[in-house]
Amino acid sequence: MHDFKFKNGELYCEDVRVRDAAVKVGTPFYLYSHNTLRDHFTKIQKAFAPVEPLICFAMKSNDNLAVLKTLANLGAGFDIVSGGELKKALRTGVSADKIVFASVGKTEEEITDAINAGILLFNVESLPELEEIHRIAQKMNKKPKVALRINPDVKALTHAKITTGTLKNKFGIDLQTARKILRSAAKYPNVQLSGLHIHIGSQITTRAPFLKAMTKVLEFLDVLKKDGVALEYLDIGGGMGIIYKDEQPQTAQDFAEAVLPYLRKTGLKIIMEPGRFIVGNAGILVSRVLYLKDNGFKKFLIVDAGMNDLIRPALYDAYHEIVPIVETKARKVKMDIVGPICESADFFARDRMFPALNNGDLLAVMSAGAYGYVMASNYNVRGRPPEVMVKGDQFEVAKQRETFDDLMRGETVPSFL
Ligand SMILES: *Cc1c(COP(=O)(O)O)cnc(C)c1O
Repeated sequence: MHDFKFKNGELYCEDVRVRDAAVKVGTPFYLYSHNTLRDHFTKIQKAFAPVEPLICFAMKSNDNLAVLKTLANLGAGFDIVSGGELKKALRTGVSADKIVFASVGKTEEEITDAINAGILLFNVESLPELEEIHRIAQKMNKKPKVALRINPDVKALTHAKITTGTLKNKFGIDLQTARKILRSAAKYPNVQLSGLHIHIGSQITTRAPFLKAMTKVLEFLDVLKKDGVALEYLDIGGGMGIIYKDEQPQTAQDFAEAVLPYLRKTGLKIIMEPGRFIVGNAGILVSRVLYLKDNGFKKFLIVDAGMNDLIRPALYDAYHEIVPIVETKARKVKMDIVGPICESADFFARDRMFPALNNGDLLAVMSAGAYGYVMASNYNVRGRPPEVMVKGDQFEVAKQRETFDDLMRGETVPSFL
């Protein structure tokens, strides 16, 4: 559920009329609902309450400070994937021991910073990475906790670009290698081999792949037990799917009911890393119609947001619901809804029945809260749009629109030209 609803024919975010926010900040812009974030977070918290998990929001899905602060205030930790995310997470005032760090390519600087900060866990994705963390920790005379991200070789039944849990993917450590590492823990006196981590993909709408992965985890834990390996944490990653179109994803409650028996059996402390489930439907991208173009073969509604603002359709063939923010009687015709970028991949919808809006009319690309702004770029020398948060009847710009000066910062013509 989310807090973007029509009242008297106009789209509202909570108690703010989207049109009023558009007048204030201009288009395009991202709009986030505080209440939706809170609602989604507490749904997971309640559903999994029996195992009291640490819920580490996957901040790569949305790293806006207002979003992070909202979740930190509710008790969330953060799942980070870079040194930049570490620094940004700490800006929320979150305790470092609620931060877990995944990434297949952690650098020496990132590892050093994370050890210094005192994060809870490194989710380690290869043997050479473990050796590097160990080398750095030894130099610093520290003993950080690590979990091995295992690759359970399970297909997640999602888009190829967001499946991560098979051996064709670069993520995680195969079970044989993981077992070898855990049996030779004595070789790594400066790390605590404390747990296992899995994350098999994103936008997974059914429980079957999760349960398959959990079965493999339980089997693996049994093997480890016989090896005399004792662990403290199981991090089950993120990946819970949401509704973009006609998906019927399991609710947090359904998912919990299916997974909890497995989690209880492990006897380990549970960490979760939801991203999209919390923030996906908590944000929209608002854009203005520039032109309706008809080339005699096809119609194109050209809007002022582009793939540089929201790349999901281009990158993942993603479907987003799109609605005029003021209900209209304009007749619906089949059209592509596209941006101004010089790429044929710059589209938000293809062959969609949509009202023939006029220049200046506003529309909302729904469910744009996850993997939206964070993937925005400056392609075509376009400043990234502002991010606005709504709470009740209040709204505030949480990140300013980038200006031309912002874009030119640090760029100079070499002296030899
Ligand atoms: C991306 C990612 C997540 C979050 O995935 P969602 O599908 O957004 O829930 C969690 N854990 C790791 C390691 C990730 O890379």
